[in-house]
Amino acid sequence: MKRELTTAILLAALASAAGARLAAQTTAPKLGYRDTPMLPGGKWHVHDSERPQPTRVEPGTASSPAQPGRPPADATVLFDGTDLSQWQSLSGGPAAWKVENGCLEVVPSAGDIETKQKFGDCQIHVEWATPTPPSGDLMERGNSGVFLYGLYEVQVMESYPGQGGIYADGQAGAVYGQYPPLVNACRPAGQWQTFDIIATAPRFDGDKVVTPAYLTLLQNGIVVHNHTAILGATGHRIFPKYTPHGPGPLRLQAHGSLVRYRNIWVRPLKGYDER
Ligand code: MG
Repeated sequence: MKRELTTAILLAALASAAGARLAAQTTAPKLGYRDTPMLPGGKWHVHDSERPQPTRVEPGTASSPAQPGRPPADATVLFDGTDLSQWQSLSGGPAAWKVENGCLEVVPSAGDIETKQKFGDCQIHVEWATPTPPSGDLMERGNSGVFLYGLYEVQVMESYPGQGGIYADGQAGAVYGQYPPLVNACRPAGQWQTFDIIATAPRFDGDKVVTPAYLTLLQNGIVVHNHTAILGATGHRIFPKYTPHGPGPLRLQAHGSLVRYRNIWVRPLKGYDER
């Protein structure tokens, strides 16, 4: 009886200590100041003690050539190697590309595919690989593409030196027909390559462009576009123009080449201090 009582007291003490620790965590003093200069916008002081802490996001892991990495905890996973449930054809039917060995492969006859979900400002991760050995017309070789908002193509192409050869603004990583990548950051045909994209959606006032779409792109970890203002919808031999639109899908291009994709995810982006 005495032993049981001692155990009960010990457990109560432990619970009390844990509770105190939790309380200390949740009632930790807010460090900072309220008598410092006001930042632009008139809402927060420098080092403001009342400014909310950022939301915690558990980071993912990097990909290796053999294996895709793990997306960040808050990512919207669009393709994890298993199915195309997040995708559809451009007419709204099933996305009829091939899923095999954890990869998604273009089926040219099925046409482009796009996400069912639409996105505004966002961070996008896409991995792709051109066919090996490289073959076919240099204007078509490894051709696919990642269209932001369904309209603005970031080119996927065979562009490794000696393996590709299309014009500069049609290379891998180009904003098609507008901007070549700042450098050629390609890996050889058949190797997995990464696009990490930060996309800012265009803003419109009626028919007027208030701000264009902006693109920052890292290909294989190397910056190839740095907050670049997109000139309008991309296309072949056309002058780019804007047509007002809201949030849009992520679209992948079928252009006759059997390009593969894996590990595709998106993180919608909010503004500072927004939840
Ligand atoms: Mg293309």
